[in-house]
Amino acid sequence: MADKGRAAIYRGLGQPMEVKEYPVPEPEPGAILIKVSMASICGSDLHQWRGDIDLTALGAPLPTILGHEMTGTVAKLGEGVLTDSAGQPLAIGDRVVYPYFYSCGRCPACLKGNHATCPMNVLYISCAELPPHFVGAYADYYYLHPNHTVFKVPDDLSDNVVVSANCALSTVLYGLEKVELSFGETVVIQGVGGLGISATAIAKEMGAHRIIVIDGVTQRLELAKAFSADELIDMRECKTSQERVQRVKDLTGGWGADVVVELVGFPGVIPEGLDMLCNGGRYLEIGNVSPGKTFEIDPSLLVIGSKSIFGVVMYGRDTLKKALDFLSRTRGKYPFDKIISHCYQLEEIDKAFEEQDKGISSRSAIVL
Ligand SMILES: [Zn+2]
Ligand SMILES: [Zn+2]
Repeated sequence: MADKGRAAIYRGLGQPMEVKEYPVPEPEPGAILIKVSMASICGSDLHQWRGDIDLTALGAPLPTILGHEMTGTVAKLGEGVLTDSAGQPLAIGDRVVYPYFYSCGRCPACLKGNHATCPMNVLYISCAELPPHFVGAYADYYYLHPNHTVFKVPDDLSDNVVVSANCALSTVLYGLEKVELSFGETVVIQGVGGLGISATAIAKEMGAHRIIVIDGVTQRLELAKAFSADELIDMRECKTSQERVQRVKDLTGGWGADVVVELVGFPGVIPEGLDMLCNGGRYLEIGNVSPGKTFEIDPSLLVIGSKSIFGVVMYGRDTLKKALDFLSRTRGKYPFDKIISHCYQLEEIDKAFEEQDKGISSRSAIVL
């Protein structure tokens, strides 16, 4: 094995990333060193890169390595790591997926078993200058600390199918379970990027009667259709909020949707989504991760309509395994291999971000 590995270093807003080499670390007992094979660019990575999420203002220790959606193989096993989190024997060279955050196990949320709501989960960004250096996805290696969760990837699932499983797929799966989507219900999905596409397939597998997706990009709408969306609302045709709400009402016999999922990332779409809900409907908020953005709402509409809003970030300790099993079980049914539209080398990382930001690429991946 090489004694050094490359990493794309992020120093701050507006600065190009610099590919730099660091010494390959030895994993401490209980840890794993991963050789990353593919890392994708998630909407929240773009928010950080654009500055919608100001890492400096949040006190994140820079320089760091961006990126959290990834897959790879086991490069080195720390002492005592003999199996994956499903109890299967784990060896060097095995393909794996893993969450990029760590619940603490000792806060009030963790003690109740609510690992997804542990405050430590969102504090996963660390400084690349300090060992073990490999702290983000856009690098040759990734250091999985002790107290990690890791699962072996079946051979029949390719990297571009599983690369987003540890974020997009697991987060929407956890969210749809949180709002208790049940058999026969109608779901509206606002925004069908990587998360919206994943939500479409999962809602179908959970027994949704009708899935209505809203977007304004032909490529995304077509992909949503291939992922079994039943109705497409094209924002270029249904231009106003009122028109789109009316369309959902028309498609649901005037009643409204049982569940609306926000995966756009702009707070302005929330009032529209709430208007699409039926009496007693549930709104699942996932997309808005940028602090300081607001929306206006008449709260009596929530009270009188008995509507609920659920916020979800991250997911539970068992979710990624369920996501992986879902990909295996439905292999070939949904074109998960089509979500990654463009691949780039690590040295092209700025170009990969720019092209996804401009919409030239719908979802980019760095191949390592
Ligand atoms: Zn993500
Ligand atoms: Zn905790």
